[in-house]
Amino acid sequence: MSEELSVERSPIVKKSPSRLKKTRYRLTKQGKIAATILLVLAVLIPTSLAVGLGSSLEQAKAELDQLRQSPPGPPAQGGDSAPQGSGAPQGDSTPQVEKPEDPGPEVPAYQALHPELYAAPHEWNTVEKSKVCYLTFDDGPSARTPEILRILENYGVKATFFVVGKDTGQARQWMRDIVDAGHTLGVHSYTHDYRTIYDSVEAYLDDFAREYALIEEVTGVPPQIFRFPGGSINAYNGHIYQEIVAEMTRRGFVYFDWNRQSGDAVRNPPAAATLARNALDKLGTSSRVILLMHDSKGHYNTVSALPAIIEGYQNAGYTLEALTPEVRPIVYAYPNP
Ligand SMILES: [Zn+2]
Repeated sequence: MSEELSVERSPIVKKSPSRLKKTRYRLTKQGKIAATILLVLAVLIPTSLAVGLGSSLEQAKAELDQLRQSPPGPPAQGGDSAPQGSGAPQGDSTPQVEKPEDPGPEVPAYQALHPELYAAPHEWNTVEKSKVCYLTFDDGPSARTPEILRILENYGVKATFFVVGKDTGQARQWMRDIVDAGHTLGVHSYTHDYRTIYDSVEAYLDDFAREYALIEEVTGVPPQIFRFPGGSINAYNGHIYQEIVAEMTRRGFVYFDWNRQSGDAVRNPPAAATLARNALDKLGTSSRVILLMHDSKGHYNTVSALPAIIEGYQNAGYTLEALTPEVRPIVYAYPNP
């Protein structure tokens, strides 16, 4: 206990008056100093505490605001995503950095060629009937074509013709006759020149576009299906058939190979009876048959064999129909390189 406090608390001290007065003065002066110090301390300490606490609160509040403005989780990647968070304004004063668009996988230049060359929208592989035979005739039209059309009409069946570039008045009429009779007209090739069309994807597209335009102009019906000359995989297109198949599929076209042939593709086709026997061989082993035949001008035997072929399939319970883009195609196996 200090002397000053005891004096103030006990002002009546039994001392001599003069000394007492002097002492009281001295003590009172000291007391005033002490009281002032106490007062200053009493004011300063809470104030500094309050100021310190206040600044801490403000700092905490600022941090909280910052947290509210920042979305949880890692920062957004890329420059093209929509702003995230609670909608608090951000970025107004911060210059936005333009990031280049992701170019994605490289697009081949030939995709831009022939912008008219797209099939109409259609379903894929939705028609898969059993006991069905699709008669197909390649390399026409020719004088054999109307003969074949008459036979098909007699039996009341439909077929498919994959035609080549024969731009004469007569050929145009045969193409119209095919469509008018309800058969399907598909693209085979304009030039049918293997070395030319399988030289590059661009060359294939050029040839296809030429035949496509001819069919559309002559019949008014843009073709939707096609058949590769020599089949989808042959001795001439091994280096690019995957690219061509991918590009034609991207454009919506459907191609059909075959799983049965009459054997009329050779230069000197066998007799009609042999062609029919080939076409009907092992009948019943395939529920879905795409039969390859030809209607170019030398194929008299094909015409002669046709009635027996149609009757053979019908007697075995098959229906004969025309191909459409919705039919699940029969194609050559697509081996991995
Ligand atoms: Zn052909």
